[in-house]
Amino acid sequence: MPPTHELRRERLRARFRADGAEAALVTRLVNVRYLTGFTGSNAALLVTGDHAVLATDGRYITQSGTQSPDVERLFDRSCAPALVRRAVQAGVLRLAFEAHDVTVEDHAALSRLDGAPELVELGHVVEELRTVKDDEEIALVALACAVSDEALRGLCPTVRAGRTERDVARDLDGRMLAAGADARAFETIVATGPNSAVPHHRPTDRTIESGDLLKIDFGALVGGYHADCTRTFVVGREPEEWQREIHDVVRRAQRAGRHALVPGADLRGVDSAAPDVVVAAGFGDAFTHGLGHGVGLEIHEAPAFSQQATGKLEVGSPVTVEPGVYLPGRGGVRIEDTLVVREGGADLLTTTTKDLLVL
Ligand code: ZN
Ligand code: ZN
Repeated sequence: MPPTHELRRERLRARFRADGAEAALVTRLVNVRYLTGFTGSNAALLVTGDHAVLATDGRYITQSGTQSPDVERLFDRSCAPALVRRAVQAGVLRLAFEAHDVTVEDHAALSRLDGAPELVELGHVVEELRTVKDDEEIALVALACAVSDEALRGLCPTVRAGRTERDVARDLDGRMLAAGADARAFETIVATGPNSAVPHHRPTDRTIESGDLLKIDFGALVGGYHADCTRTFVVGREPEEWQREIHDVVRRAQRAGRHALVPGADLRGVDSAAPDVVVAAGFGDAFTHGLGHGVGLEIHEAPAFSQQATGKLEVGSPVTVEPGVYLPGRGGVRIEDTLVVREGGADLLTTTTKDLLVL
């Protein structure tokens, strides 16, 4: 029996009990996976005070038995209604549900079921539980980062003027798979020349020209866990002064952001650490996004570094630090690492050099 998942369900019980509910209906698939290990595409989970029922459909009879042997299983294509009926049988009067996942239409249908319990909001409780990872999860994030580093190391010597963004992106994706990734963690960003000034540029058929900045934001997916890394290079010749300048600013800002990753740090304070450096260098208008985000079963998850964030940084949270400076029409630089917060500071998981390499 995998004790990890039962341990996680115990933590969830403590939370919904404290809010006066007798059970929780978990419908977000990634949260079902976190609480049971089940990876199918249709599922929901009912957690009562002393029991757990996983609902999925007939396609997953074997898989659910293998992945989640320690929960009762129920097979029905309409997972949530089946579990609410199960909750009624168990005498549940107050059922917490994931209001950020259930549609208004589905909520109305669940409320109309015979003898339906009172539905109360669970909130983002499972997402909060997920922010602090156990050793096994951190090892998977670290492995995804190592695979990403290896793929980039292989790619760099092959980059030259004349290749297209799309070609380079496909090449890097292939190298991640060859290095052991199950898939890429998200659509790889390869942005060259003026396109590098677009934070989330999608690769095009633009041909790399000598002297271009080349920004690559990518990551591998391993065992369900994501890596996230950005590096910016120059192609073909020594960088121009402005390229060197913005790279230096971003690099210093990124260092300040990494050093702000101490346990107990205020999330909003972490978010400010890097922009302070960018503003002081006179590029305040050119940094237009949050400093970083949690990484785990999702590529973007809690905690998020932003000026709206509340809460504090905790030991065992993998997070990214990714400041950028973008000069529209000219080019941009972003440097992003995935790190894990530890007692003394943060461990770097993406270890590719942050020097402005000439490829
Ligand atoms: Zn990224
Ligand atoms: Zn990121």
